[in-house]
Amino acid sequence: MGKILRVNLTRQEIKDEQLSEDVARKYIGGRGLGAKILFEELKPGVDSLGPENKMVIATGVMPGMPFAGNSRFAVCAKSPLGYAWGESLSGGYMAPKIKQAGFDAIIIEGAAKIPVWLYVNQGTAELRDASKYWGLFTADTEKSIKKELGDKDRRQTSVASIGPAGEKLVRFAAIINDLREACGRSGMGAVMGSKKLKAWVCRGNLKPSIYDQQKLNEYVRQCVGEVKKGPYIPSLHDYGTAGDTDDLNLSGRLPTKNFQRGTFEGADKITGETLVSSGFLVGRDTCWACSTNCKRVVEAKEPYEIYRELGGQEYETTAALGSFCLNDNMYAIGKANQLCNLYGLDTISTGSVVAFAMEAYEKGLITKEQTGGLEIRWGSPEVIFKLVEKIGKREDIGDTLAEGVCRAAKRIGRGAEEFALHVKGREVPMHEPRGKRNVGLMYAVGDRGACHMEWEHDDMWEPDTSLRPELGLTADYMPERGLLDHGLSKVRIAKIAADLWSMCNSLVVCVFDIYPGGGLEHTTLLGILNAATGWNMTMKEYMQVGERAIDLTRAFNAREGVTGKDDRLPKRLMEPLPDGPFAGKPLTQEMLDSMLDSYYELRGWDKKTGIPTRTKLETIGLKFVADELEKVVNLPA
Ligand code: SF4
Repeated sequence: MGKILRVNLTRQEIKDEQLSEDVARKYIGGRGLGAKILFEELKPGVDSLGPENKMVIATGVMPGMPFAGNSRFAVCAKSPLGYAWGESLSGGYMAPKIKQAGFDAIIIEGAAKIPVWLYVNQGTAELRDASKYWGLFTADTEKSIKKELGDKDRRQTSVASIGPAGEKLVRFAAIINDLREACGRSGMGAVMGSKKLKAWVCRGNLKPSIYDQQKLNEYVRQCVGEVKKGPYIPSLHDYGTAGDTDDLNLSGRLPTKNFQRGTFEGADKITGETLVSSGFLVGRDTCWACSTNCKRVVEAKEPYEIYRELGGQEYETTAALGSFCLNDNMYAIGKANQLCNLYGLDTISTGSVVAFAMEAYEKGLITKEQTGGLEIRWGSPEVIFKLVEKIGKREDIGDTLAEGVCRAAKRIGRGAEEFALHVKGREVPMHEPRGKRNVGLMYAVGDRGACHMEWEHDDMWEPDTSLRPELGLTADYMPERGLLDHGLSKVRIAKIAADLWSMCNSLVVCVFDIYPGGGLEHTTLLGILNAATGWNMTMKEYMQVGERAIDLTRAFNAREGVTGKDDRLPKRLMEPLPDGPFAGKPLTQEMLDSMLDSYYELRGWDKKTGIPTRTKLETIGLKFVADELEKVVNLPA
C-alpha cells in the first residue's frame, strides 16, 4: 500500500506517512520493519510502560495474496516483560484487513488520557472513546465494537483488543484478535494498556497494486501443491499442533512440573488425538486463505463450559497449562485457555507463572495468607482457573505473579530465583533444550528471550529431504544431525534457519506451512514477492533481509545493555533430566559456550561481548545502526 499510519495518542493526532520502496525492500515488514522504526525512534532506556515507548503493528508486503500461511502480522515494542526487544505475531484475519484498510503498518505513540479505540477504515482513521469498554473481556469488547459499527458479516472487520490483564499492566498481557488469535508473547497487551488503547479495528476493501498478476497467480497455484506435500501438514490438520504431545512425552521431552521432568503420566489424556477421539473437538478452523486448518474448535457443557467461538488449545497451551502444572484434564486446559483469551493473557507465560507458584507454595515460599486462602496444589484445575483470574485482576498473589517469574522470584526471594524459568525475563516455552541442543542455543540467544518461533527445531531437519543448496543447506552442513550434537554444522543449521524464520516473520507468513515441516518452498515465496513488487530479489538478498532484522534487534538490545552476558539458560535447564531417553545427558555450560562461540562467529558478532561488529553492521546495510550504537557501547570493529 506504500503507507504507514501514525497515531499519536497524547496529541490525538493521526497522519499518513510514505513507506518508501527502498525501506520496504530492505526490511519488508513485520519484525524487520518494526525493528527499523523502533531502533530509529526510541531513545535508549525508555520506560516500556511509559508514553515514550512506541508500538509498531506491521504486516508484510504480501498480505491479501491468497496462499496458505499468508495471514500474519507482528506487533513490536520495547517489552515490559523481557529485558528489551519485544515482538509478538498473530494469525487470523487481521493482517489482510490492515492492508484492505489501506496501510502496511500502524505506529502507535504517546498515551491517551481516557481509554480509546482506533478505527481504521478504507484509508482513513479516527480515535473513538472506549470508556464504556474498559474493564470488558476481549470477546465482549470485540462484539460490542462490531455492534457499534453495525457489522453484520463476521469477517467485515477485524478487531484486536486487550482484556482486563492489559489494562492492569500484567507484564505478559496479550492482544487478542478475531476472538481467539493471540499476540501472546512479550507483553504487548500491557504496552497497549499503558497507552489506554483498548482496541484497534480494521475494515475496508482496498487492494495493493500488483506488478505481474499472471505470474503471481502461477506462483499461488504452485503453493497449493507444495503445501499439500508438506510432511507435517496432515498431522497439523488432523490433530493440530498438540498432535505431537504424545511423541514428545515418549521421547522424554514434554516439559513437566516446571521443567523438573520430561515425561508426564497423564500425557495421553491431553494430546491432539485425544481431543479428536473424545469428541471434545467439534471442528477445525483456519487463518485467512490457509488450507492447513490447524486451529482447534472445541465445545463442552461439562465439566466446564467451553465455548466454540473462543477457540481450542494448541500445543504450547496444552503443555503450559497441562503437563507443566501436572494437569491432565483436557477440558480444564480448554477452559483455562479460554479464560486466558478473555482476560488477555499469554498462555505460555501464564502456565509458567502458575507452575512457578505451585512450586513456591510446595516449598513454603508462598502461604495461604498471601493467596486469599487458596491452596496452590499441583494439578488442580480450580487452582489454575483461580490463579488466571487473580493474575488478570492483579488480586493478592496475582499481583506478584502478574510481574512474570523473573520479577516475582525477586519479590518472593528466599531461593525462588532457582526455579524461575526464564531467559532475559521471558518465560521459557514448552520445548525441552536437554533433548534438542539447538533449542538450548536459540533460547539463550533469543533477542526477546526464550522463544520457540525463531528457527526450525532440531527434529525437523532430515539429512535426505532437507538439503537445499540455494539456502546454503548442503550435505556438508548436515552430517551429524543427532539431537544431542552441538558441533559447528549443527549451529550452522540454527543460523540459517533463524535467518529464514526472521524473513518469514518479516514477510509475515506462518512458518508451519513453510519448508522443512510445511511444504512451501522459500524459492516460491521469493517468486511471489518478486511477481508482486517487480523486484529482482535473489535468494541471497532474501536471506539477508532475515539476517539484517536479527542484527538490528541484537543492536537494539545492546543499546539497552543486553548483550552476550545475557545469553544464558536457567540453571534447571542445564541440569540432567531425571527421566526418559535423555535422562542424565545435560546440556552443559561448556557445550552452550562452544555453541555460542560458533554462533557469534557465523553471525559476525564479537566473541567476547556478543555485540554485532561495525564491519558486520556495515556489510549488512546497517551503518546508521553502528553509528548510533557507538554512542552508547564500545562497538567492536
Ligand atoms: S498453518 Fe495454522 S496457524 Fe498457520 S496460517 Fe494455517 S491455520 Fe493459521
